[in-house]
Amino acid sequence: VSELRAEAARIARDLRRHLERGHAEPGGELLARGARAAARGPAVEARTRASATPAAGRAVVDPRPDPAAVRAALPPEVDLFGKPLAPATHFPTAVAEPDVVQVRTAGVHPIDPAARLALTERSLPVLSEVAVEARACTLCALCSTRTQAVPGVGSALSGIVFVGEAPGSEEDRRGEPFVGRAGELLTRIIKAMDDAQLIPGVRLSRDTVYICNVLKCRPPENRNPLPHEVESCAPYLRRQLAALQPRVICCLGKFAAELLVGVKGSIGGLRGKVYRYEGAKLIVTYHPAFLLRSPTYKRPVWEDMQLLAREYQTD
Ligand code: SF4
Repeated sequence: VSELRAEAARIARDLRRHLERGHAEPGGELLARGARAAARGPAVEARTRASATPAAGRAVVDPRPDPAAVRAALPPEVDLFGKPLAPATHFPTAVAEPDVVQVRTAGVHPIDPAARLALTERSLPVLSEVAVEARACTLCALCSTRTQAVPGVGSALSGIVFVGEAPGSEEDRRGEPFVGRAGELLTRIIKAMDDAQLIPGVRLSRDTVYICNVLKCRPPENRNPLPHEVESCAPYLRRQLAALQPRVICCLGKFAAELLVGVKGSIGGLRGKVYRYEGAKLIVTYHPAFLLRSPTYKRPVWEDMQLLAREYQTD
């Protein structure tokens, strides 16, 4: 069994490297080997896929392999980074059908590439206006301890926004969110989503998603945000979200979830459900900093990213 696991992990690593080198040629031997190893059989073929928005009426030629076959080629015993998974103990291995918590009263923000591009351009002046204001902001006492404010990074291009809690020391020093160890992990998660083509036809990277925090300034010693700090800073986040018009918001940790979902609770209780924020769907998952301390939670986080991808593709 251990030899099989090692072989499966090796194939997954090779597969990811191969995908990184130009997303694998159609019918590549490596993919076929991975598929055989996973005993799921189907040969992998590139294909012409319809645009994610049928209404757009365009077909795009995606040279990458069929995402379903890529996912099938990944051995199930390996996590999103190709490492063997520890046996699940306190969380389910299958994703339950999510509860949609709020009534869907309005449509979801657009997925059409042309509309996303127009949104991206329209959002830029607002995002830079928020950044300028946050950097000069003195609405709460964190202005006196920060090195600089950390407004956000990325774009409206994909329609996905990740919202964390507050900048840490590295973010405070560099003025960019999620660039410390937890940030590197978030970047790897986004890359893993792209490698697995969780959302076919939509490239995912730090440039195509938007990444920001509830608080734009670092709390001393990385303590938790205080209620009046969240209240003072929240309008900046709300203006960013209004400009970005995301299709799906992913709250990383309880402070973002409590602010945007409007209910208190543990992440374990909040995740696995689909909420609404304005015209966006919203899901909740664990903060990458928590994941660094508790790596066994990679599995539920990956399930949450799969939920995000499914919700992204449906209205
Ligand atoms: S945390 Fe927000 S409200 Fe407080 S000073 Fe920074 S930008 Fe202003």
